[in-house]
Amino acid sequence: IRRDPQELLDGLNPQQSEAVQYQGQALLIGAGAGSGKTRVLTRRIAWALSQWRAWPSQILAITFTNKAAREMKDRLETLIGPVAQRMWVSTFHSACVRILRRDGEAVGLTRGFTIYDQADSQRLMRTVEQQYGIDPKRVKPRDVLTAISDCKNELKDWRSQLKEFAPDFRPGQPGARLGHLEAGEQLYACLYAEYQRRLQAANAVDFDDLIMRTVQLLRLDPQVAAYYHHKFRYIFVDEYQDTNHAQYVLIRELAGLDADDGERPAAVTVVGDSDQSIYAFRGADIHNILDFEKDFPEAKTIMLEQNYRSTQTILDAANAVISKNQGRRPKKLWTDAGKGSPIVGYAADNDYEEAQWVVQEIVRLTVEDGFTYGDVAIMYRANAQSRRFEEALINAGVPYQLIGGTRFYERKEVKDAIAYLQCIANPADDTNMRRILNVPKRGLGERAEGTVAAYAESAGLTFWDALGRLQEIPGMTTRLARPLQAFRDLMEELIADAQAKDSNPSEIVAAVLDKTGIVEELRKSPDEQDQGRVENLAQLQSVAAEYEQNTPDSTLAGFLENVALVADSDQLPDEGENNGSVTLMTLHTSKGLEYPVVFLVGLEEGTFPHQRAMENVSELAEERRLAYVGITRARKRLYVTRAGERSQWGRSESKTPSEFLEDIPDALIDWKRKETAVDRRMMLGDDDSDEFGGFGGFAGFDDSDGYSTFGSRGGSRSSYGSGSRGGSGSYGSRGGSSYGSSSYGSR
Ligand code: ATP
Ligand code: MG
Repeated sequence: IRRDPQELLDGLNPQQSEAVQYQGQALLIGAGAGSGKTRVLTRRIAWALSQWRAWPSQILAITFTNKAAREMKDRLETLIGPVAQRMWVSTFHSACVRILRRDGEAVGLTRGFTIYDQADSQRLMRTVEQQYGIDPKRVKPRDVLTAISDCKNELKDWRSQLKEFAPDFRPGQPGARLGHLEAGEQLYACLYAEYQRRLQAANAVDFDDLIMRTVQLLRLDPQVAAYYHHKFRYIFVDEYQDTNHAQYVLIRELAGLDADDGERPAAVTVVGDSDQSIYAFRGADIHNILDFEKDFPEAKTIMLEQNYRSTQTILDAANAVISKNQGRRPKKLWTDAGKGSPIVGYAADNDYEEAQWVVQEIVRLTVEDGFTYGDVAIMYRANAQSRRFEEALINAGVPYQLIGGTRFYERKEVKDAIAYLQCIANPADDTNMRRILNVPKRGLGERAEGTVAAYAESAGLTFWDALGRLQEIPGMTTRLARPLQAFRDLMEELIADAQAKDSNPSEIVAAVLDKTGIVEELRKSPDEQDQGRVENLAQLQSVAAEYEQNTPDSTLAGFLENVALVADSDQLPDEGENNGSVTLMTLHTSKGLEYPVVFLVGLEEGTFPHQRAMENVSELAEERRLAYVGITRARKRLYVTRAGERSQWGRSESKTPSEFLEDIPDALIDWKRKETAVDRRMMLGDDDSDEFGGFGGFAGFDDSDGYSTFGSRGGSRSSYGSGSRGGSGSYGSRGGSSYGSSSYGSR
């Protein structure tokens, strides 16, 4: 690939230009928000290809989301041509899937392995707990899985955990009981071991396994390790501040930094901003970026400080908030874009009025100031805060899209259909096989499942294999055997069918919807919501068809992989197709994005910073970084709002302003309303919040159960989209017919 070097340096400032060209073994681009990190990283890859004559196959580039990977590929394509689409530009998880599909046998994974998501894992953990006589209400599967996830992020495998905390336990012992153990290290170690045993038997992995198993593979098999050391000569990582220990080790292993196979380690470029590290709760370790110079020999750091995204006023606010954090490398963002408009502040009496004001202001921005709805994002600390804004937007007839509500792929009917597909691709997947045994209802209840499962367990067979030997199962009656045999026949037919047309996932989906009767069952249902579910399933087929169109050698396994790796932020429309609707999202999801107008809402103590984080210094520092991320998403206008009272758990609580709000110099904020009724009451020394409880007739909506009380979920919601895209597409993550096929295009 040949390119004029000047073309690749065009429009870059001197530091950016140096970062693109620096030739050395290890480079950290430690840049502040909006300073062009992602842009520089992309140019640097193009530079390596064209100026250092790297082969596209020698490059590994890691991004934080699939959406970011797609964008990077597209930008690379304009710089270097279509070869970009075939390069390894992906998330950590996707890269590991690719490695494990090719070489996973060395760690006991055959090619068609299944990837379990959160819900699958919880299902499996519940089964494991029941097997050992543990009450899932007492020991929550979710808590056990969090503990296991923490272990995996630290690369602690089940063997070492057993050795340390439960040396006498062996997984897979029939009849063993653990119900007497308290929740804690010992019990978790046992459950971890059994959980892994069952994953292995099902030829399945969970999300965290993808990373840990790849590291194990590289450490275990010198030939495989040598292959990747040899292959990847240049490794690039975006958002490095949010890598965890396992990912850090993975980079080292892939680069061959600790190998002695005579190969020079790959050159590693990482990009990040320690002030934007916001994923500690998922195991991210800020020390990875802070210690980069110690960890990587001959490392060089280049700082970028000029910001190209925001106005100086917005940056001053961001600097003021983040500078309160201890122990950070001081850096100051600046721009030559000028001061811009002041930040606008609003203190509402309660959360209802806060939402009313925000929506009214959004409408005003479009009518008077020339912004479009697509220019605007509302960002909040917790998902539950979205409901008020949704209500207000709906009442005002303003189209919106919600990022990260109940996700399409987490809906029951969609999961059921996907479970069928998983079983077709991998019949050894016990969890999914058992999930669909009685979906749709075919008279195979717990007893039928239990009988087969017990036999499978004792004979060391998969559930699927046991179904093939019904006559050998003790206690099998003809009444049970008949529907079980029918199920096995159905699955055999689907599997044979799928093998005949493997390059055609949409036809396989169609066959599943048709032959299993799941659609038929829903169609017959008198429940209105079930009709919306039928539409969701129809949508799944469109998703498969789009995948097919966008993927040259499409397969069922490939399709399932895409489905499994979809992250929250992937529900965002791709750049350039923002469709005139207001975006609602959590601050965590906003990382790496930018909007002309940003509303940061709920700036109160206990809301943001979050209640849980307030007593803990390091968690509070993380909340502060989250505030910094939020502020720096804004390009032209920033709004900060708060409520004097907020309904939580069904009652109204008084709220004081967030300390982050107080950190922003008053001179930067134009307060449209500064004091709330609660503030005035407090000043009078009367803090009885009860008399102000229950505002505006919204008592029926109770925060504590989130969205479930929020009546009409399904298709009716899409009618609010008629302003922009005729009710389809823009309401991605919501109900009924509204699922946005556009956003699932190219995976
Ligand atoms: P974040 O920390 O939020 O991930 P970032 O450092 O990755 O931000 P980019 O997203 O790469 O920043 O860039 C921010 C904005 O500034 C983008 O709109 C980008 O196109 C623009 N930009 C970056 N560098 C330049 C430049 N030299 N000239 C003009 N615009 C630039
Ligand atoms: Mg970026």
